[in-house]
Amino acid sequence: CGIVGYIGQNDTKEVLLNGLEKLEYRGYDSAGIAIENEQGVNLFKVKGRIAALREKVDHSVSSTMGIGHTRWATHGAPNEDNAHPHQSASGKFTIVHNGVIENYVDIRKEYLADVTLKSDTDTEIVVQLVEKMYEETQDTAQAFRKAVSLLTGSYALAMIDADDKETIYVAKNKSPLLVGIGEGFNVVASDAMATLRETDTYKEIRDKEIVIVRRDSVEIQLLDGTKVERDTFKTEIDA
Ligand code: GLU
Repeated sequence: CGIVGYIGQNDTKEVLLNGLEKLEYRGYDSAGIAIENEQGVNLFKVKGRIAALREKVDHSVSSTMGIGHTRWATHGAPNEDNAHPHQSASGKFTIVHNGVIENYVDIRKEYLADVTLKSDTDTEIVVQLVEKMYEETQDTAQAFRKAVSLLTGSYALAMIDADDKETIYVAKNKSPLLVGIGEGFNVVASDAMATLRETDTYKEIRDKEIVIVRRDSVEIQLLDGTKVERDTFKTEIDA
């Protein structure tokens, strides 16, 4: 299972699909991507191989930012509904997740009793919770931090907002996740293997940090919003 994300100048579809292919060795049962442009967020998901996802994607949709996922099902059968990305009730937020949210039943009871869920996954709880928090805060970064603060378990998360083509929101706890640094673009990946074609320069993300990833900046924060400085490192693997 794995995550890849891209925000930059080039066509996202190819970066995401190529990245997911590089993550295939980790094992998966389904895959999907969400790509965003002026018209909103376009979602493509399949049960099965990345090759099938490549066929399903509408290659006429252009986009320069998006997120992708290979799923190893832990909660909910491996099928198209349970494949990631998952969306909030209004469609504003779209998320991919690796790991297991241990307290998803409690979160559902406490915050989401009135929400009709579209999947059987623990992951959907996260994106629905962000939307709940957004109703209170009207601020996506704050809503994301609040929601992530309530989670227990393991997660690598990447989220996009249908009203903002300039930002990917990332969070990590006990699941691998890196941010790759480029010129005029940045990438997110569970494994540098996925994005070696794009960059050899990365920032490590530590547990319980969130990252605001834009085309020209990467801002690491603690869950209370405090900014964190982090040096880059270079990978020595060849693409
Ligand atoms: N727990 C999530 C699910 O079952 C994510 C699994 C994964 O890491 O791919 O959908």
